[in-house]
Amino acid sequence: MSAGTTKVFDAIVLGGGHNGLTAAAYLAREGLSTLVLERRKIIGGCCVTEEIAPGCRISTTSYIASMLRPEVIRDLRLGEHGLRMVPCDPSLQVPFLDGSVLPWWAQRERAVAEFSKISVKDAQTFIRVDQQLKTLASYLQPFFLEPPPNLGTDSVAGWADLLRVSKRFRKISSREIAKLISFLTGSLREFLDRNYESEKIKTLFLANNVYGKHGGPYQQGSAIGLLFHLLSGGEHQQQGFYGHVMGGMGAITQAMAGAARKFGAEIKTNTPVAQIDVRGGRLRGVILEDGTEFRSRMVLSNADPKRTFLKLVPSSELPGEFLQAIRGIKMDGPCAKVNLVLSEEPRFTGTPPNAPPLERSLYTLVRSMEFAERCYDIAKFGDIPEELWVDCVVASNADSSLAPPDCHILTCFVQYVPYRLRTGDWDSNRELLGDRVVKKIAEYAPNVPNAIIARQVLTPLDLERTYGLTEGNIFHGELNLEQLFFMRPVAGWSQYRTPITGLYLCGAGAHPGGGVTGAPGHNAAKQALRDWKNLRKQARTY
Ligand SMILES: Cc1cc2nc3c(=O)[nH]c(=O)nc-3n(C[C@H](O)[C@H](O)[C@H](O)COP(=O)(O)OP(=O)(O)OC[C@H]3O[C@@H](n4cnc5c(N)ncnc54)[C@H](O)[C@@H]3O)c2cc1C
Repeated sequence: MSAGTTKVFDAIVLGGGHNGLTAAAYLAREGLSTLVLERRKIIGGCCVTEEIAPGCRISTTSYIASMLRPEVIRDLRLGEHGLRMVPCDPSLQVPFLDGSVLPWWAQRERAVAEFSKISVKDAQTFIRVDQQLKTLASYLQPFFLEPPPNLGTDSVAGWADLLRVSKRFRKISSREIAKLISFLTGSLREFLDRNYESEKIKTLFLANNVYGKHGGPYQQGSAIGLLFHLLSGGEHQQQGFYGHVMGGMGAITQAMAGAARKFGAEIKTNTPVAQIDVRGGRLRGVILEDGTEFRSRMVLSNADPKRTFLKLVPSSELPGEFLQAIRGIKMDGPCAKVNLVLSEEPRFTGTPPNAPPLERSLYTLVRSMEFAERCYDIAKFGDIPEELWVDCVVASNADSSLAPPDCHILTCFVQYVPYRLRTGDWDSNRELLGDRVVKKIAEYAPNVPNAIIARQVLTPLDLERTYGLTEGNIFHGELNLEQLFFMRPVAGWSQYRTPITGLYLCGAGAHPGGGVTGAPGHNAAKQALRDWKNLRKQARTY
């Protein structure tokens, strides 16, 4: 008998990403003996700070906190565990090849004044549209922290859920419903073309609204990002919040781990789970790759749905129809990340060198909507676009503690690269991707290529291998309409439960989806706690 078999935990959380840690903290807070098992040597999943050169720390994967639920920050007292965020202002900034830079200031009046310099009409439209979008987003907001409805009307629970949803919309007008539907189904390009005249202003709105998406701005369903980004975030529950996290994104997961441990959870790293132990339909716990067994009454998987159900649970224990639906989840890339340590600060043309550091921190390099769409087209056929869409953050300007005084940190998110290459493989194309990213940055900040001290290129394959993201998908599954809400991860299983009693999904593959929100972890833990009384009773009879 292995050492681990003696104790039966109330709950095991498989994976120490931010959602796993959130779930563990909520479970431990209610007094459940909780164990987190993380395969990597550090906790945090895609919300980490890692050293890529001596003394130079970088948010290697996610890099801006925009949607972290205020309730999670408050409940877990993340501030007391060291979390500090500084609002990004501008919250976004696009430089153009004519040497101009267009910022999106966090304060509406300042944004309007900035847009007026380009188009008075667009600036006026912005006031109206921004208000409309914020109102619509506020209808969706409450759904973030609760399970999606069970649409079956053959049970009391199904009817109660439908009632819950309809109550949320009781104040919505028919015009607003029409608008909401057009956001959920329309394309970003149609929306922007309908409302704005300036190509620069349209490009600015494009810049953060198809983030991580499999699809260009011309694709139906791409307007949904406009609403997602207006869900409130940060400790002050601000709509459209964007935050630099002091200490990098890893400070979020360190704070969550601190909270979980304070409530009594145990966290182990370097413990890859090989199998979720289910025998004859009964959940027993997990088995590590080295054969160690841990017993528990519940398992909450923070791994993505494909990894959880196609790799970790024996297929003989799952219904064929469910497995087929899981196999059909769309993942497939489509992003990469390049992290750079520089010997001098990147000097983006158009930004005065004496501008305040926060105004020298964010630069989204995307020329136009057509450029973005063409980029996606190339990537969707399996090629690496010659010219890339790159989202740059000079993180050391927001937080100088990330690097020694003579070093600078530049993180670069790459939108639109394929997971499956048409020719060759990612191992032999990694440096080509890095070179193309640097070339693109040089068009806007010519001093960057000669200032590079260290470079880390994370292809979609690296995101899969290193961070455990199936097919490199940063959201554990595309955020398309057909994979959202009561259809996430798959229709019929959106309330965190799974066909195995006691097994839950608590990561980004569950509602409401990806991004550093803490919401799936929070919701899954609440669902598990609702079931806990019954599970404990059943366990006694085993
Ligand atoms: C390059 C990149 C950039 C991004 N940028 C942003 C951003 O700026 N802002 C934002 O909000 N979001 C961003 N995201 C998305 C966001 O980071 C993720 O959607 C979110 O962090 C997912 O959190 P999670 O806890 O659900 O899953 P994960 O962070 O994926 O955590 C899952 C954990 O489970 C572990 N695990 C998996 N299998 C096993 C196993 N068998 N045994 C033990 N452990 C296991 C993994 O190692 C991992 O630690 C980005 C993601 C990436 C990859």
